[in-house]
Amino acid sequence: MRRASVVIVGAGVMGASVAYHLAARGWRDVLIVDRSDGPGRGSTGVATGGFRAQYATAINVWLSLLAREKFSRFRDEIGVDPGYLPAGYLWLAQTRAELDILRAGLKVQQAEGLHEATEVGVEDIGLITPSVLRDDVVGATFCPTDGFIAPLQVLNGYLAAALRAGAGVEWQTAVTGLIRDEGGRIVAVETSSGRISTEAVVNAAGAWAAELAGHAGVSLPVTPLRRQIAVTVPCTLLPPTTPMTIFAGDGFHFRARDGRVLLLWPAPGVSGKPFDVSVDRE
Ligand SMILES: Cc1cc2nc3c(=O)[nH]c(=O)nc-3n(C[C@H](O)[C@H](O)[C@H](O)COP(=O)(O)OP(=O)(O)OC[C@H]3O[C@@H](n4cnc5c(N)ncnc54)[C@H](O)[C@@H]3O)c2cc1C
Repeated sequence: MRRASVVIVGAGVMGASVAYHLAARGWRDVLIVDRSDGPGRGSTGVATGGFRAQYATAINVWLSLLAREKFSRFRDEIGVDPGYLPAGYLWLAQTRAELDILRAGLKVQQAEGLHEATEVGVEDIGLITPSVLRDDVVGATFCPTDGFIAPLQVLNGYLAAALRAGAGVEWQTAVTGLIRDEGGRIVAVETSSGRISTEAVVNAAGAWAAELAGHAGVSLPVTPLRRQIAVTVPCTLLPPTTPMTIFAGDGFHFRARDGRVLLLWPAPGVSGKPFDVSVDRE
């Protein structure tokens, strides 16, 4: 039977980051397994690339501030440009209730040290981006240090750095079971290419994390959030520095990327089909 000190299930940005950080701290025989045939086949490869610290809970603000600090030294540490572009995030409220929610979030952000996040008046929105019709907007918040990153560059950077530090990766290897000893401790993973004994397993299976945890009898409250994305033809309507612009009410948001505009909308999945990735043309 093969052996690894730790098996990381999932080679998305989370699994690659964990592998790099463990290997860089001296862990030997770190192994990432992924059922897909290469990097970026999960959520990381289709992400919009928005990066923000404008969250409504303290822990999310902290995590983003830590991530921002990491991005500032990513090139030196990992050798790859993470593509951090501080174009800002602009949240738009169309009702007083939505504005109250944005203001409550601002209080949390300010308390956690994100002082550059501020409320902006409707008249100032045009100065930030001229692309929003302001007739039915009652207020907004803006954070200029939010913006964009390049998810695949971050993933590929971490993966290459993990391999350089001695970690291994196996593609087309699906984890189908987690083997426990009598005390309940996981001692091996069952995969499509055989059993691997291990001292520890990291669940980095992203949207599929609950299914994986189920193999160890653990119920994990992770569910996928379906999104619809419309990509325009190449155009110069919006400069690449246009902030990520989000309507707080229904979550509709847009950004400019690679000379096109992405129009995005979180859309509930068809009931009973949480992993449905079909396009709803309507
Ligand atoms: C359309 C879209 C837009 C998004 N936009 C943004 C954004 O703008 N900003 C932002 O911060 N986040 C965004 N996200 C979320 C972000 O992409 C994810 O949070 C992040 O990529 C998750 O990384 P991960 O490594 O956890 O998962 P993933 O990248 O999905 O990697 C999980 C991996 O686990 C593997 N796996 C699963 N189960 C098994 C198994 N049993 N055996 C072996 N391998 C397995 C999969 O093959 C996959 O490669 C977006 C997501 C989507 C879908």
